[in-house]
Amino acid sequence: MSESEIEIESDRTPTDDDEIECEGESKQQHKRKTARRQGPVGQWDIICEKVSEEDINSRLQSTARVELGGSANWSGATWKPPMGFSKKGFRRKIYRCPFRGAANASCTAELRVTEDEQGKWTLERKRTVHANHAISNKTRGLPKAIICAATSPTKVGLAPARVIKTVREQFGALSDKERTQCMRVLKYDKMKKRDTVVPHELRKTFGGLVCWAKSRTRDALMRKKEFGVHTVYVCGESEIDSTTQTVNMAYSTENLLLNAYRQEQHGISSIVQIDCTHRLILEGHACMLFGTVDAAQHFHPVSTSTTTINCVCLLTVPLSLSSSRSISLSLSLSDVSS
Ligand SMILES: [Zn+2]
Repeated sequence: MSESEIEIESDRTPTDDDEIECEGESKQQHKRKTARRQGPVGQWDIICEKVSEEDINSRLQSTARVELGGSANWSGATWKPPMGFSKKGFRRKIYRCPFRGAANASCTAELRVTEDEQGKWTLERKRTVHANHAISNKTRGLPKAIICAATSPTKVGLAPARVIKTVREQFGALSDKERTQCMRVLKYDKMKKRDTVVPHELRKTFGGLVCWAKSRTRDALMRKKEFGVHTVYVCGESEIDSTTQTVNMAYSTENLLLNAYRQEQHGISSIVQIDCTHRLILEGHACMLFGTVDAAQHFHPVSTSTTTINCVCLLTVPLSLSSSRSISLSLSLSDVSS
């Protein structure tokens, strides 16, 4: 087709029939994405209003636990507007149900978080109900609902066979293929959780141990806001040296260290009881338990530590002489009393 022909085509004055066709087409093709939808769908109900960020986060977690089940969590998008606040003085973020999309259950449930300029947060829920999350239209792989149920926090520490039994009770029969896939999901989940503690390439090395010790110090835990009375943390300076194969590390909790403090204040202060076993750690490092005994002959654990066998004597001698040598236990005791 030549240029002149095209021009002729476009210059042709449209007839009545043409107009009707064009209108119909444009209405179908150019349906506005932002067109306002009236009616109850698309309206928002307030869950909690004018509260702090922590309240919103805990509310999001609790709603996820109740409504989504298992390890599923609301998937959050980015803030709108991405920087600062809108003209009306707020910014918004939409959390969507993880079972959305045609491959899953096509769930349209959404939560909306709004922060205003005063720093007050509001949580709202879209006026729709969750679809049946057990529905899956995936052509391959396990349904998301089964993955979430299998990796749920309530099943931590259970043997894979036990987990699969529970999942089967919840969802009905699993095929052999689904069972294998479920085992694979559990294995992957375990590896992922392990890698967050010690990176994969550092596992079973002294570097991994150093990494763990550094991530479990009091300061590191406080930075992560994970420190509490019952949190296990590494007391004092740990000594980890791969060239001499030395590991000296003491760990305890604030609550257990208080046992030592009470002993010092109200009990027979010079007696600290210590025992070791080499059987717990494959590499042969000794596992040492520190504790105190009260007047009624009850044992109160204070701390445990992992040490190289050669160093056990080094550690015990200064303790029994109650010298001020800077070993882990005396350090941690001074931590408490200060
Ligand atoms: Zn849903």
